[in-house]
Amino acid sequence: MKIKCPKCKEDADLSPDFSFVKCGSCDLDMSYGEYVKFVAHNQATYSDILGDYAGSTEGQTAGSLDEWD
Ligand SMILES: [Zn+2]
Repeated sequence: MKIKCPKCKEDADLSPDFSFVKCGSCDLDMSYGEYVKFVAHNQATYSDILGDYAGSTEGQTAGSLDEWD
């Protein structure tokens, strides 16, 4: 299925068994577990950067990231 590439923001492919993610637009190729961590980390980073600017962080908490480390 198509998901959003966390690197280049183009369409990436998530394998039907949720085992890996690949993107044809960049060289992204990682397991789904790594993808989830990657996205979680990026969202936390963006929330920090855009916190005051966007005002729509959808209630994400910084503490939730600890579970992935
Ligand atoms: Zn990509």
